[in-house]
Amino acid sequence: MATYKEVLKQAQKQMLEKDLGDQAPFLYLLELTNMEAHNLYMEMDQEIEEPLRHTYEEGIKRMCKGEPLSHILGYEWFYGYRFNVNPHVLIPRPETEELVAYILAACDELFSKQETITAADIGTGSGAIAIALKKEASYLQILGTDISADAIQVANQNAVNNEVMVPFIVGDMLEPIIDRNLQLDILISNPPYIPQEEKMEKSVVDFEPHVALFGGEDGLKFYRIIFEKCRQVLKDRSMMAFEMGWNQRKPLEALVQSYFPDARYEFIKDMSGKERMLFIYFHC
Ligand code: SAM
Ligand code: GLN
Repeated sequence: MATYKEVLKQAQKQMLEKDLGDQAPFLYLLELTNMEAHNLYMEMDQEIEEPLRHTYEEGIKRMCKGEPLSHILGYEWFYGYRFNVNPHVLIPRPETEELVAYILAACDELFSKQETITAADIGTGSGAIAIALKKEASYLQILGTDISADAIQVANQNAVNNEVMVPFIVGDMLEPIIDRNLQLDILISNPPYIPQEEKMEKSVVDFEPHVALFGGEDGLKFYRIIFEKCRQVLKDRSMMAFEMGWNQRKPLEALVQSYFPDARYEFIKDMSGKERMLFIYFHC
């Protein structure tokens, strides 16, 4: 028999020995026990039940091999909502929650007088952006697209679990929108933007889908594809919102200026002060 504290300390020690930090074991225990942190602290000297200890230690073994906590749990929290994840989708990131918050603010500021607002999330993955937006702003008519049929399956399941109606379509970048002759107020994308040769954390490269990560030689391939065709799917008065890499402002700004010399645009910093979002406005 062992206490919560003993089991946790042991897990943290194993993770530290592998240079994997000591954060995840506590978060994992919180999720498995379904407790708030302050309640778990109160329980620390209690004995942990055997089945729970077994599940926990099996999970810690997988984490010690670099597997992300979200894969072991089978879900991740995003904008306060729970999203199923598996190796076919990018695990939604906290930075992307900030993108959602800025899009909601822009909706209020720019489109609040309209009866309907039409939006699309290109490269939707788990559906995190589209579903969180629909939960927060039910008046949005939003759909999601992805090249990966496996990802779209996860997104559909997440829409059901979160009780929203969001259509998800398999297809290449803007093609599904063009095929359906849709005219959008808002085009959103967190495309794959990592340069092909970039060195990355092992837990990301080994466990997350490469189709979700890499954006060609300079990481900007998908922005070019979208910039090239976006006017076909956007209303005259409309906007685009993108996530981007922290060091991509310069080349992206050059692209924006060459594709849209007359458009207003802004780069927005995330909470850690890095420029991680690009918003482009057409006639608004
Ligand atoms: N939107 C999700 C998020 O923010 O968590 C996932 C973003 S992930 C960085 C990029 C997504 O783009 C992946 O789900 C990937 O499958 C998708 N993707 C890659 N190439 C694509 C293409 N040619 N057309 C559409 N989607 C594509
Ligand atoms: N932010 C992700 C990472 O660093 C990459 C997401 C993307 O390419 N859009 O792993």
